[in-house]
Amino acid sequence: MTDYTYRFRLYPNREQREHLNKSIGCVRFVYNHMLYKTKTDYRTDHTNWNLYAYKKYLPDLKKEYSFLEEVNSQSLQNAVINLDRAFKAFFKGISEFPKFKKKKKRNGAFAIPQHFRIQGNRVFIPKLKTGIKVRFHREITGKIKSLTISKTPTNKYYLSVLVEKDMQKLLPFQSVCGIDVGIKSFAAVAQGSNNNNNIKTDKIDNPKHLSKSEKKLKRLQRQLDRKQHKRTKQDNTKASNNYIRFSRKVAKLHEKVACQRADFLHKLSKTVINENQVITVENLNVKGMLGNHHLAKAISDAGWSMFINMLQYKADWYGRELIRVDRFYPSSKTCSVCKYVNKSLTLKDREWVCPVCNTKHDRDINAAINLYKVGQELPELTPAEKGTVDDRSLWLPKKHPFAETGSSSFQ
Ligand SMILES: [Zn+2]
Repeated sequence: MTDYTYRFRLYPNREQREHLNKSIGCVRFVYNHMLYKTKTDYRTDHTNWNLYAYKKYLPDLKKEYSFLEEVNSQSLQNAVINLDRAFKAFFKGISEFPKFKKKKKRNGAFAIPQHFRIQGNRVFIPKLKTGIKVRFHREITGKIKSLTISKTPTNKYYLSVLVEKDMQKLLPFQSVCGIDVGIKSFAAVAQGSNNNNNIKTDKIDNPKHLSKSEKKLKRLQRQLDRKQHKRTKQDNTKASNNYIRFSRKVAKLHEKVACQRADFLHKLSKTVINENQVITVENLNVKGMLGNHHLAKAISDAGWSMFINMLQYKADWYGRELIRVDRFYPSSKTCSVCKYVNKSLTLKDREWVCPVCNTKHDRDINAAINLYKVGQELPELTPAEKGTVDDRSLWLPKKHPFAETGSSSFQ
């Protein structure tokens, strides 16, 4: 059984919108309030909050702030579950310290774990008598576990339906591929079969409409920044009407770019999973990414990690294998023909000639071939090993010293 999420557009009327906004506001309030309490209590007397303590405190909070009674109490419970999860992720070192959810961002979400009903083209949720209109563009299959309703900064509402279902595994395949993040293009791909050396290479560009919107977005963001607004926390400048109007325009385009990118990555990851049994990619280091303030690089990294994420869950669904190779493996600097390592290669060098075997390399394609070879050289899994992917990480470091050690490479 696998978790799968469907997403549908919601069309609430005015009264329903009010209720949804209220629920989003209350969930945000509870999350922020508990986060504030956790921080201050820790500072004053080193009290450690946990999920149990949060849940126990919730009724008191409701007594103090009676408006919380107007929304589904299970959605509020879910807010503290999320906060607890955020803290756990922080202590594991996989994400930043939990942040306050800002009202200013005009987005938000709340979960409906139980007591909902889908009937015809409407969804019924607790504390709201009328059903909200949904556009079900796909049929839902599997057992429904929970619902989430979210709102975008451009005032669109969505319903996410989490289901549990059996995914049809694809037939095993001989094909292997390596994918490297490109410098000018989105990615370089090297693809071939497990048992011969016929390698097909290709570069994949971002679709034209996506790069066009991205360029436009960058330009608009620069224009927005020039308009009158608050620049630092201490700054008391009031945002001009022009700034507010313009920022809505930017938010709209932002949403469009995000949709176009997700659409492109969904199609690409589906094709890659359909055509290959083993897929090797370069892993990005999340910690390094969070500290990266170079905007263009951050955007391309974000797209890349979204792509790897999609590859991972689709590989799990359909019975394929994704191998993440540590980014410190010199995939671009190693000659894919003779394994000579060109230490003087810089980011600017798009092409280079190997001084040992004289092969002329395209930087990105050469890197993809190296990643392809990592996947190709892995021995076949025995049927007993096929059950758990983790088995593979045990011997991976021995054969490939550059592969990431520990289980983190197989998250
Ligand atoms: Zn060489």
